[in-house]
Amino acid sequence: MDKNTMDKKRIEELRELLHKYDYHYHVLDQPLVEDSTYDLLLKELKELEDKYPEFITPDSPTQRVGGQVLQGFKTVTHKTPMLSLNNAFNEGDLKDFANRIYKTLGEKVKFVCELKIDGLAVSLIYQGGILVQGATRGDGETGEDITQNIKAIKAIPLKLQRPVDLEVRGEVYMPKKSFELLNRERGEKGEPLFANPRNAAAGTLRQLDPKIVGSRNLAAFFYGLVEGPDLGDSHLENLQKIKELGLPINPYIAVFDEIEEVIKYCQRWHEERNSLPYEIDGIVVKVDSLSRQQKLGFTAKSPRWAIAYKFPAQRAISVVKDIELTV
Ligand code: NAD
Repeated sequence: MDKNTMDKKRIEELRELLHKYDYHYHVLDQPLVEDSTYDLLLKELKELEDKYPEFITPDSPTQRVGGQVLQGFKTVTHKTPMLSLNNAFNEGDLKDFANRIYKTLGEKVKFVCELKIDGLAVSLIYQGGILVQGATRGDGETGEDITQNIKAIKAIPLKLQRPVDLEVRGEVYMPKKSFELLNRERGEKGEPLFANPRNAAAGTLRQLDPKIVGSRNLAAFFYGLVEGPDLGDSHLENLQKIKELGLPINPYIAVFDEIEEVIKYCQRWHEERNSLPYEIDGIVVKVDSLSRQQKLGFTAKSPRWAIAYKFPAQRAISVVKDIELTV
């Protein structure tokens, strides 16, 4: 077999494998492999597709935002798509990210660094200050209407401090303590355990009974204002506005002028992540200025003005053999 045919075969193999992992992770909430393994396979596929663009298919995992709309909920079309993020795995990737931005814009920029909370992305709509809709990311274009479940999360205000129209994006997560308690209870009842807090949060948000959601102590941090009053040019200042309106934002957000400082922040949180009461799987780095974000634009799957620095794997998770929907 020649190199070209071998690479084509590997592309097909990777695609099939990643499709399977996506389904178990996003739909069944039962991952088959560690995230770092998934990320490496995706990286390999991306590199091969860069080499052979003629082999890219529209359904390739590199072209789509993971996730699928489950039955049982109404669907919601996102006015602004909920995208994925490009990954950085080391210092070099972060420097390349900054250099690409400097080259495109012809100037330096401020970077906002946020903890990458390991939960589930949600989009909330408030009208006149009242929560009217909560949705999952789904496939990025269409998500599930989980308004009743969102209303059962105490950290999310039903009413904002001011009667404004707003759309915000954030992450719903399960604190480590709640996860341990939930799994202990499930173990005692002989029910299947959740693999990690992210899977527990995802499984909980997809419950058809909001009372169960209310009993499981989920929390949330918001990290993006999509539409809202007095939108300024600074992402950081917009996050501050979200907070003043009553939505929780993470306390460790920082802003830096130099990519070297961003790298130090990533290293610090890699060392200190275990001290947090919730799980994080990396750091999200964003260009602070919204007008510069606009100039940089998007690829099919992710913004060019943000990147997710992924921590190296922390511990192995056991391979889940019996696949059943954990509820
Ligand atoms: P992603 O998790 O790398 O990044 C995008 C997501 O980050 C957003 O949707 C949002 O939910 C989240 N996020 C958290 N904090 C944020 C912040 N401050 N600002 C912006 N976003 C923030 O990409 P993805 O497309 O959601 O999913 C890929 C992830 O799923 C990877 O971590 C991958 O390893 C994992 N995955 C694992 C398997 C598996 O089998 N283990 C399968 C599929 C996907």
